[in-house]
Amino acid sequence: MRIRNAKIVTGTDKNQILDGYTIEIEKESIKSILPDADYPPAANGIEIIDAQGQYILPGSICAHTHFYGAYARGMSIPGSPAKDFPEILQKLWWPLDKALDENSIRYSAQVCLIDAIKHGTTTLFDHHASQNFIHGSLDTIAEEIIASGVRGALCYEVTDRDGETKADDGIAENIRFFQSVNNSNNTIKHRLAAYFGLHAGLTLSDQTLEKARIAAPQTAGFHIHVAEHSSDQENSTNRYGMRVVERLSKFDILRENSIIVHGVHLSDEEIKILADSGCWVTHQPRSNMNNGVGMARVEEMLAGGIRVGLGNDGFSNQMWEEWKAAYLAHKLWHRDPRRMPADLIYQMAVNNNAALASQAFGVPIGAIQPGGRADLIFVDYHPYTPLTEGNFPWHIVFGFDEGMIISTMVDGRFLMRNRELLTMDEEKVTAEALAYAPTVWSNYQRVLQG
Ligand SMILES: [Zn+2]
Repeated sequence: MRIRNAKIVTGTDKNQILDGYTIEIEKESIKSILPDADYPPAANGIEIIDAQGQYILPGSICAHTHFYGAYARGMSIPGSPAKDFPEILQKLWWPLDKALDENSIRYSAQVCLIDAIKHGTTTLFDHHASQNFIHGSLDTIAEEIIASGVRGALCYEVTDRDGETKADDGIAENIRFFQSVNNSNNTIKHRLAAYFGLHAGLTLSDQTLEKARIAAPQTAGFHIHVAEHSSDQENSTNRYGMRVVERLSKFDILRENSIIVHGVHLSDEEIKILADSGCWVTHQPRSNMNNGVGMARVEEMLAGGIRVGLGNDGFSNQMWEEWKAAYLAHKLWHRDPRRMPADLIYQMAVNNNAALASQAFGVPIGAIQPGGRADLIFVDYHPYTPLTEGNFPWHIVFGFDEGMIISTMVDGRFLMRNRELLTMDEEKVTAEALAYAPTVWSNYQRVLQG
């Protein structure tokens, strides 16, 4: 396949904008990128697609999300509004995850995947919880990932909050799924990845962390919320006499392929430990604002050598919305318009997320270059000021929006073409999900009432 007449934003470490270029795709990968005029006539049978001057960008990557939260949209939470993040967990997320069954897990994944494809997010790192349907829950999501055509990295959030048996079940689900992915063929492995999920230090005893450490294969990365709210640090210092990152380090959680989520409340020493460990940190500013937990010291982390990526924590799969939130939130938080320039967000959302995805799936993902996977989005953007390599991140913040995305491709296959979804039936999925919402919401009310 050749896609000609494109304006390509390469998303490579040194970003390039190539106007009037052709991308040649062979199977799942990009074979070559040359000016339109430099290609000899295509042999018979090679499909030629005219991009009509649209911008072609690497598909967006979301480094941390929760498909399971989909049914929270519009749900009524009884009683007085949650006053802080610990109350939000107790009133909303923990009872909601216990209200989920196989059907609702499937619908939650489906609606999120449709949202992702429509808005150009082609790889997602999910963190799943469903404490009354643990065994096989990751298979349910994986089936939907494979059917949708996107890439997904999955794990189960192990926690002690519902007792030891369920903590053990969570560990078993991670291990079962890890082995199942490991035993798959390469086609599956490049689309599906497995992490060892842990909820957060404040709901994990030393005993459970030790079990996780022993159970996790050496090659497995962990995916865990860290110091999202100050209560995580208070719990850790009061109960265990050390801060959260020190405690996780003790249990070998901070591996080079582990994902540390949020890190809002970290000391200088903890930031240094994370940098030395080589693990990933992800930033989710929309979630941080929504929960009123504060802002992570992302600029210092990046300057200190930590590979920080960008996630959405279950917000919409419009990753440019997350760019915009990051751009604005740090300026307000610090009352300083110099904070969080757009090129720093580019480093997280494009370069670092691409490196994370490439590590997770074992193939080059997230940049438009020969040998890279053909995960592309077509954007109908008409800039009225020059768009250059240097100012591209600011065009994302002030110009681009996800409604301009016309087509989405993963591994050289269109998942949406000219705004038509090709792998998923939006009308059917939303009708089924909607019909099931009263069941989920009444389960939630029942769980709340104990
Ligand atoms: Zn999260």
